[in-house]
Amino acid sequence: MTVRLWGVRGSFPVPGTETARYGGNTSCIEVTAEGLPTVVFDCGTGARRLGPTLFARQQREVHVVFTHFHMDHLFGFPFFAPIFAPSFEITVTAPAFSPDGTKDRIARFLNGIFHPIRMTEVPAKVQFSAVRPGNTFNCGPWQLKAAQLNHPGGACAYRIERNGRSMVYVTDTAPLSRPGEGLAGGQEPFGREQQLVDLCRDADLVIFDTMFTLTEYLEKMTWGHSYPEYAYDLCKAAGAKKLLLFHHAPDASDGELDLLGTHWSTFTAPYVEVAREGMEIVLEAAPSSAVAV
Ligand SMILES: [Zn+2]
Ligand SMILES: [Zn+2]
Repeated sequence: MTVRLWGVRGSFPVPGTETARYGGNTSCIEVTAEGLPTVVFDCGTGARRLGPTLFARQQREVHVVFTHFHMDHLFGFPFFAPIFAPSFEITVTAPAFSPDGTKDRIARFLNGIFHPIRMTEVPAKVQFSAVRPGNTFNCGPWQLKAAQLNHPGGACAYRIERNGRSMVYVTDTAPLSRPGEGLAGGQEPFGREQQLVDLCRDADLVIFDTMFTLTEYLEKMTWGHSYPEYAYDLCKAAGAKKLLLFHHAPDASDGELDLLGTHWSTFTAPYVEVAREGMEIVLEAAPSSAVAV
């Protein structure tokens, strides 16, 4: 299983010299495995550059899975090249009560006003699917699981696995416990926080919204974003192996993200890295645990 990061920025795309190294495109993560359809988590502006690369593969089945429909996660969808190719079969999954609920929400954006193309005019074969937090669901041969996050309007985290390796994508979310409670208070997780810990259990890679510092979070607790110490504590409680700090603030410069990476570089349980556009993480198949007798 290979995970590629096409957009790591939160809230708003920020091209420019100050963001050139970590990247200015918003959330878009690609997961691939030999012979399987591609899974794309979120279609922020990073999806624009991902799109053309999919034409070079034989596979024409693509699964796009949205955490939620805030603009920074959706804006790349009408610029995602496979939707203009009749040969592509795209399934769009999002938190909703029904497939029509997913379709309706995208159609409100692709309606001829906010973008010239309407959802009904998209040339690719597009199907819609809905997911509820706590459910396990399939994207073709892939099996995923969803958990509820703490974000205005709601959002889902997703776990995806292949050959004994796992990745969990956790954005956008504020901590699932209030300051002084649960993991944020150095105590045991409970409720929805426990469910997110369970989703991240023993994961090889967790990509986590850490747009704020702790101080910023305390000033903007209702904005629905987290901070690195909380992400670390949650991953540690889950036994996750590696944490990628993700959904960087638009104002975070390359220099500031370098400093963030340096601060966390000595942590090992889990290891911590700052997500960077263009990053590729290969999760090799786990060695078989079977013992010949
Ligand atoms: Zn976002
Ligand atoms: Zn959001």
